[in-house]
Amino acid sequence: MGAVNNAGEALWEITALRFARLTRHHRDALLLCPEPLAGRPLDMDYSLWLVRRGDETVVVDTGYSPELAARRGRTFLDDPMDLLRRVGVDPAAVTDVVLTHLHYDHAGNLDQFPAARVHLNELEFGPATGWHAREPSVSFAYEADHIAAVVRAREEGRLQPVRDNTRLRDGIELVHLPGHTPGHMAVRVRTGRGWVLLTGDAVHVHANLRERRPYPLYTSLEETFRDYDTVTALTESADHVIPGHDASVIERFPAPAPGLAGRAARLDLPPES
Ligand SMILES: [Zn+2]
Repeated sequence: MGAVNNAGEALWEITALRFARLTRHHRDALLLCPEPLAGRPLDMDYSLWLVRRGDETVVVDTGYSPELAARRGRTFLDDPMDLLRRVGVDPAAVTDVVLTHLHYDHAGNLDQFPAARVHLNELEFGPATGWHAREPSVSFAYEADHIAAVVRAREEGRLQPVRDNTRLRDGIELVHLPGHTPGHMAVRVRTGRGWVLLTGDAVHVHANLRERRPYPLYTSLEETFRDYDTVTALTESADHVIPGHDASVIERFPAPAPGLAGRAARLDLPPES
């Protein structure tokens, strides 16, 4: 049995695990970004998220491998599977994995979770494998091995198609935000400090939402702006919005243990700065 609030509703812990990073510029992440903001450096993190309560564990996104990081020029910090073990989670025993979407930086390592149900929006699979995915600007974002692992999970009866907005558990909701990819989902989690929204790539960095300038990779600009409105409506403050790649997250929220500073952060606790 895990923590509950006064109403008897489940409260969850959230731990962000940062495994890689990349320094770019604001112009790379904010559509038609004006100077001088455009030329300012922008640190982008690659992370996965652990949501747990008692012995219940949900992993949100699954990261990627060191080999992939080297091939794509990302600075790899730690194997995300090792980070999970360092916070007490055996990937092989995880029962539920949520993939926010199928882009390469969110959907690797699936073979490390052989026992998990894989929750994926039903609109996400087709576009990743359809004819238009042969376009380099689309195929860039996918890895064939990751898609094949999703197919294997389906053959093993472990793929759980998600439709629309769905309640995964008491206090965990999957929110369909289709601007970035057709089946993209955010994960809304009830914590001791209120509802926290893991936006995935509906918001890459806080500046996307603050400046109202989308990351320049999307299926629909109109849906992307609608997603921004939904994110704002579902969150009581900017501190309750956890963008998919914002490097400030790991710096602002407390580490679960001193040895994990810079690698892990507790998002269910208030920020320290
Ligand atoms: Zn991403």
